[in-house]
Amino acid sequence: MCKLDPYINVDPGTMNPFEHGEVFVTEDGGETDLDLGHYERFIDENLHRDSNATTGSIYQAVIAKERRGDYLGRTVQVIPHVTDEIKERVMRLAGEDVDVVITEVGGTVGDIEIVPFLEALRQFRRDVGRDNVCYVHLTLVPYLAPSGEQKTKPTQHSVTELRSRGIQPDVIVCRSDQPISSSLKRKVSLLCDVPIEAVISAVDAPSIYEIPLVLHDEGFDDYVCKVLRLDTENTQVDLSSWERVVKTIGSTTRSVRIGVIGKYVNLPDAYLSVAEALRHAGYQYKTEVEISWIQAEEVTGMLAESRLQRLDAMVIPGGFGERGVEGMISAANYARETGMPCLGLCLGLQVMVIDAARSLAGLIGANSREFDPATPHPVIDLMDDQADVVNLGGTMRLGAYLARLDPDSQVGRLYGEQVVSERHRHRYEVNPKYRHRLEGAGIRCSGTSPDDRLVEFIELPGHPFWIGTQAHPEFKSRPDRPHPLFVGLIEAALERAEERQPHLIDIETSEQ
Ligand code: GLN
Repeated sequence: MCKLDPYINVDPGTMNPFEHGEVFVTEDGGETDLDLGHYERFIDENLHRDSNATTGSIYQAVIAKERRGDYLGRTVQVIPHVTDEIKERVMRLAGEDVDVVITEVGGTVGDIEIVPFLEALRQFRRDVGRDNVCYVHLTLVPYLAPSGEQKTKPTQHSVTELRSRGIQPDVIVCRSDQPISSSLKRKVSLLCDVPIEAVISAVDAPSIYEIPLVLHDEGFDDYVCKVLRLDTENTQVDLSSWERVVKTIGSTTRSVRIGVIGKYVNLPDAYLSVAEALRHAGYQYKTEVEISWIQAEEVTGMLAESRLQRLDAMVIPGGFGERGVEGMISAANYARETGMPCLGLCLGLQVMVIDAARSLAGLIGANSREFDPATPHPVIDLMDDQADVVNLGGTMRLGAYLARLDPDSQVGRLYGEQVVSERHRHRYEVNPKYRHRLEGAGIRCSGTSPDDRLVEFIELPGHPFWIGTQAHPEFKSRPDRPHPLFVGLIEAALERAEERQPHLIDIETSEQ
C-alpha cells in the first residue's frame, strides 16, 4: 500500500490534529497519514514509513540530491526530476514478495499540488506497460433530495480533468449515499468511456468494514484483476473472516458508553485509531461502543462530576501542549476515586502519574515539565539525553519498543505475555527519580523497558481498571483481533454498567 499526499509538510508529524486528524505511527517509527491506519486494519499487514510520501518529502529528496551534485549540473525541474522521485516512491514498495502495489493519491483532481503526481502516474503506465497499471478513479455522486436525483456531473467533470492530464480511468468508483442505478451506470459508462462493469457503486454502509463486501458484490476486485491480467481463473475469493467481522458488528446485544477526554474532540478523526480500537474490543463482547467525546477543558472543578458520571469507562488519549491537561488530570482523579475504568494512552499515562503524585504521594505542584517548566516535582520529564531538543519534527521516541511486563499484574494478565512490543510517539517519560515515591504511594509500574529505565505501563492495585501505557496500543488493534488493553477496558465497562443498571442489562440480555 502506498499513500501519496500532495501537501508540502515533510510528514504529518508536525501537523495540528485539528487540520489533519490523527498521525498514524508505523512499527518503524514513521509518522504517517491516518489512511495508513485504515490500510493496516483492512489488509492486516504492518506498513512502514516508506508507505507514505508527501510533496515535502519528495522535494526534500530532490533538493538533497541537487546539493550533493547528483544531477551533474543539469537544471532540476518538476518533470523529470520530481516526477521521477514520485515514481521511485511507488517502485520502492514493489519488493520481491509484492504482486501489486496499491497507490492512493490524496486530494482532488484539479488541485494545483496534485499535478506532478498525476503526471508521474501517467508516465508510470508507459514505464511498466499498459497491462500493469489499473487507474481507479473515485468520485462522489451527490444525491439531491428535493429533486430526488443523483448527479453525475462532478464525475464527468473530474474525468474530463483527468483526461486533460493524460489519464483515462479504467474503473470509476462512485461513492454515494444511495445505490447507483443501472441506468445511471450506463450514463457514466457512456460519458466517461468505460465499460459498464467498470462503473462501481460504492454506497455508504453502516460500518466501513462492510465496504470490502460491497465492492466485492459489485465485482470490483474481479474487474481490476482483469485489467491487470492477473490469472484468477482458479482462485476462489475467501472473504469469510471478513464476513464474520461484519456479522458480529450487526449483532450487538449490549452497549457501553465510553468517554474520550481529549483536547481535539471537535474533530473525532484526531482520535481515529482510538475509536476503532474501542469498537473492535466491543465486537468481542457483542457490545456497541457509544463514544462520548468530552472536551478536557470542561472537566475541572465542580463540572468534572457532571461531565463524567454517566460514563461506563473512560479513555484519556495522547496529546501535546498544555491546554486541557488539568481537565485530564481531574478525569484521571475522578476515575481513580470512583472506581470508574480508565485507560490512559501516552499523555493519558502521564496525567494519571501526575494525579497520583499530587493526590497519593503528596507531591504538591507535581507536573510534567512539558506543561510547567518550573514545577517543583517534574514527575514527567525529558530524559537527560534529550535535554536540548530544538527541532519539533522527528525528535520523539517513535515506533515499536519492547516492554517487559510483571506477569502478576493486571497488565501482564491482559496481555498474557511477558514481553510485548508497542508503538510510541512522545518526548517525555516518567521521571525515574520519582518512581520509588510513586510506587510507595501505591502505583504499580507493571511494565518497563527491558533495561528497567523507562516506565511503560502503570496500574493501581485494587482498582477495577486504572491502567496507563506510555505507548499507543490503539495502532495495533484490528477488527478481528482487538487489542488486549481495550478488551480489558470494555470488559470492565460492561461490569460497571451492569452494577449501575443491573435491571436494564438483564432485560437486554434475556431478550437475545
Ligand atoms: N506530550 C507528551 C509527550 O511528548 C505525550 C505525547 C502523546 O500523547 N503522544 O511525551
